Amino acid sequence: MSWSMNGSKQTSRACFAIGDLVGAPWLAHKAMHEGVICVEHIAGLNTAHPLDVRNIPGCTYCRPQVASIGLTEAKAKEGGPRGAGRPLPVHRQWQGIALGEPEGFVKTVFDAKTGELLGAHMIGAEVTELIQGFAIAKALETTEQELMRTVFPHPTLSEMMHESVLAAYTGALHI
Ligand SMILES: Cc1cc2nc3c(=O)[nH]c(=O)nc-3n(C[C@H](O)[C@H](O)[C@H](O)COP(=O)(O)OP(=O)(O)OC[C@H]3O[C@@H](n4cnc5c(N)ncnc54)[C@H](O)[C@@H]3O)c2cc1C
Repeated sequence: MSWSMNGSKQTSRACFAIGDLVGAPWLAHKAMHEGVICVEHIAGLNTAHPLDVRNIPGCTYCRPQVASIGLTEAKAKEGGPRGAGRPLPVHRQWQGIALGEPEGFVKTVFDAKTGELLGAHMIGAEVTELIQGFAIAKALETTEQELMRTVFPHPTLSEMMHESVLAAYTGALHI
């Protein structure tokens, strides 16, 4: 509640916006997350937090599926000294072959100085599910060392995520 210059009571009003109206990426999960943040903020909860749009995965439900998060190699390099990534594609997913979708591609982009995961780009079977592994890694500012030391189950599609990081640094084990 506030008072105007002529002494009459005025109710303070705030206008909040979420979703497509706010801007890219125009995705349902981004809109929903902003909605939660907005309501938490209105309710005065200390759980309200800024949303980092660089950590929002984008998925295309075609065949093969496409999934992506963060910076591409080209965008990373635009970042000057910080942005030199070491990406490498990985083909031949063994589980993908079993699923009848043998075409695959995983590309990871890392900060050349710090090793932080900057982006991940995937084409292939079930990559719209797999990208969440990189989304968590990116939100936690995971490095290439931490990803390389992570144990991935075999035989799974997720192994190609591990392989892509190994390939970018020490060399893939199965390619
Ligand atoms: C064909 C298509 C496929 C998509 N597929 C995906 C996908 O696979 N994954 C994904 O993440 N995103 C997808 N999207 C994008 C996703 O739907 C949007 O990013 C998301 O719905 C945005 O949420 P929003 O709340 O901003 O808007 P909306 O979901 O559009 O909600 C806006 C609401 O406001 C209502 N409204 C409009 N005007 C008024 C008014 N004057 N008064 C009262 N109510 C009003 C509308 O009826 C609607 O219910 C797709 C979009 C399209 C069009």
